[in-house]
Amino acid sequence: MIKFHSTNRNTKDVDFKTAILRGQALDKGLYMLNEIPKLSLVEIQDLKSKTITEIGFDILSKIIGTSIPENKLTEIITDALNFEVPVEQIDGNDYICYLDRGPTCSFKDFGARILARMMEYFLELENRDIIILTATSGDTGGAVAHAFHKMKRINVVVLYPREEISELQRKQMTTLGKNVLAIGIHGKFDDCQRLVKMAFADPDLKHLNLSSANSINFGRLLPQTLYYFWSYSRITNKNNEQVIFSVPSGNFGNLMGGLIAHEMGLPVKKFIAAVNENNEFPRFLETGIYEKVEPSKNCISNAMNVGHPSNLARVIDLYGGEIDELGNIKNMPDMEKLRREIISYSISDELTKETIKNFYIKYEKILEPHGAVGWAALRKYRHTNPQDNIYKAVSFETADPAKFPEEIISLIKIYPKMPISLKSIQEKEEHIVSEKISSYEDFKKFLKKNYS
Ligand SMILES: *Cc1c(COP(=O)(O)O)cnc(C)c1O
Repeated sequence: MIKFHSTNRNTKDVDFKTAILRGQALDKGLYMLNEIPKLSLVEIQDLKSKTITEIGFDILSKIIGTSIPENKLTEIITDALNFEVPVEQIDGNDYICYLDRGPTCSFKDFGARILARMMEYFLELENRDIIILTATSGDTGGAVAHAFHKMKRINVVVLYPREEISELQRKQMTTLGKNVLAIGIHGKFDDCQRLVKMAFADPDLKHLNLSSANSINFGRLLPQTLYYFWSYSRITNKNNEQVIFSVPSGNFGNLMGGLIAHEMGLPVKKFIAAVNENNEFPRFLETGIYEKVEPSKNCISNAMNVGHPSNLARVIDLYGGEIDELGNIKNMPDMEKLRREIISYSISDELTKETIKNFYIKYEKILEPHGAVGWAALRKYRHTNPQDNIYKAVSFETADPAKFPEEIISLIKIYPKMPISLKSIQEKEEHIVSEKISSYEDFKKFLKKNYS
């Protein structure tokens, strides 16, 4: 059975069940695989004839072994991935994989829905209850709240930055009720994330059994390997053909899914880490010096407004280095390998908007801001690396344009078609938390009062 270590390397290794029920490691690091199992080239070739559920089973069972029985794992994946994942050829060798067809119309449905079902399975087994604390920059909250809604052994508390998310994003969290509570924080996403991390580390709250469903939780990342294998298997025909992936990135959970897939044997030419104006990662690749963007910049791709990505700890761990939760590098990763495998571009809001406009004019299809950052970064890569034009590339569309109607209308004068799942929440009543929570003390009091 594969064990997990903390990226801070200051606590004991644990098994998969403990890693996902705990969320964050006890030393404030993130859990990461001690070893990464490989698929053979034949196994990768065989994926071409499989469904996404079958691919999911092949990949997940390699990592989690027998910690979930086969039939249960199949049931979890089938139940969670009850939506389409189209891969469409846009132009020549450039493809888009649509990850926005889940119930909350963002790619986070992948990770959240599979994680929720795995946690429920383990909690039932152990006969205990937990509280999921989650910070959201926009989309995580909705996906997590929706994925865990009505689960018996789990309460959900979501923190979101009041001023930085869209009305639809807010309603996806506040209209559920029951075991789901959403709190608007007077601050930024990074403030929400800090409150959550402090609560995890607080011994006074130990009795609440707090856990995380952010991409802090390894169980969120694992399902995100699937759409790399899936899109690869739909567009390639040659054995061992390498593909380029352009990945809209904020907290780097999306990218981590790809990096794990690559370690498992997926032939990848290059990962493009596409970020908005929060450019700490491309600067790090360039200079080898890590500096957070503080406060984070408020861009239209709001789910990527992250000035200090938590999964950077895993990226650096994977490349042999170590960075603590505050952003101090303890050990440099193998920068040469990092730069060979990953390139990163920061895309301005201006270019994001231009991309949405031009894409519509050229292809009569609508991109939303996050997907547009990915597409714009791919265009940059194509422009500067013509020698790689022979390789196919997949850019991920990570949300539905209808989640950002104002932006889309102002750019292309078209009202994006609203999926039923979004339409239905508009009339529902919102449950708004009235207490003003701006400090950790406020937050702690609130948790104790409501859940002790
Ligand atoms: C969260 C999110 C991203 C970024 O994913 P990370 O795992 O945080 O890097 C990109 N696009 C959308 C729509 C998102 O919700």
